[in-house]
Amino acid sequence: MVLSELAARLNCAEYKNWVKAGHCLLLLRGCLQGFVAREVLAFHRGLLAAAPSLGPRAACRSGSRCNPRARQFQPQCQVCAEWKREILKHHTNRNGDVHWGNCRPGRWPVDAWEVAKAFMPRGLADKTSPKECDAVALLSLINSCDHFTVDRKKVTEVIKCRNEIMHSSEMKVSSLWLQDFQVKIQNFLNEFRNIPEIVATYTRIEQLLTSDWAVHIPVEDQRDGCEYETGVYLSESQVNEIEMELLKEKLQEIYLQAQEQDVLPEEVKKKEKKKILNRLQVVKEFLRSNKDLRNGLREDLQKLDSLHLQQQKPDSKEPGAQKPEGKA
Ligand SMILES: [Zn+2]
Repeated sequence: MVLSELAARLNCAEYKNWVKAGHCLLLLRGCLQGFVAREVLAFHRGLLAAAPSLGPRAACRSGSRCNPRARQFQPQCQVCAEWKREILKHHTNRNGDVHWGNCRPGRWPVDAWEVAKAFMPRGLADKTSPKECDAVALLSLINSCDHFTVDRKKVTEVIKCRNEIMHSSEMKVSSLWLQDFQVKIQNFLNEFRNIPEIVATYTRIEQLLTSDWAVHIPVEDQRDGCEYETGVYLSESQVNEIEMELLKEKLQEIYLQAQEQDVLPEEVKKKEKKKILNRLQVVKEFLRSNKDLRNGLREDLQKLDSLHLQQQKPDSKEPGAQKPEGKA
């Protein structure tokens, strides 16, 4: 463990704020997972009760032809068409982006989670449960599905903050920003006062955000790590884990953005490409001086580099897109 690198990073108050904010998101994700899993099952049961024709005995009749891509889904069979209508009925963003590409429609009659993914952001096709999702995926579901009765403004405020954390190019946020985030995240958690695990997280987040979070460089055999004023203890490897998760999420976000720009008009694409490359450059620069983090992120960086190379080829197509060969 290269503790001096960690200590140097956390010496920067604004970076420390960024990690703290990210830790809040991880705590938030943790307390939402169980709740969301239960609610998704209830939602699915409710749908089947109201429309038994959608149930397990209904099966997609056209196999691979009922295959959504990104935001496009043209059902080729009766069952999938009915499911699509039903999902849209409960979608609060039914006139905007629905990421059908997340779902395997053939599973809708039997798999509640495949239905839930129609209410979530792009890039979740391979996620098979809430346990595999980050906070923003779960927040988006709560925001977009009318099964959840909640003040949606409070949800979108937290989503906005999350995006600011992930898009912060320098990976820094101010203390003022962090205070504001605390208010917003607590406003959101207050919407769930009858869910014990969410109430418990409220307290943990409060402790985290109001504590000083100093790293002590170990003197010989003294125990090292971070200590909260409140006595909550995080070891340096736990802090490291949090940083790693955040950076992974950030790189994944950059990856998805890079992947999406292929469908943009040429002019916008150029601008976007530059923005994304800059963002990636900053992360790489940061990792150059932080070997302890870089080693764990090698795969993620390689994935981005090979996407970049692929997109530089003059007639590159969106990876995996099954477009018919246009040129005769
Ligand atoms: Zn079908």
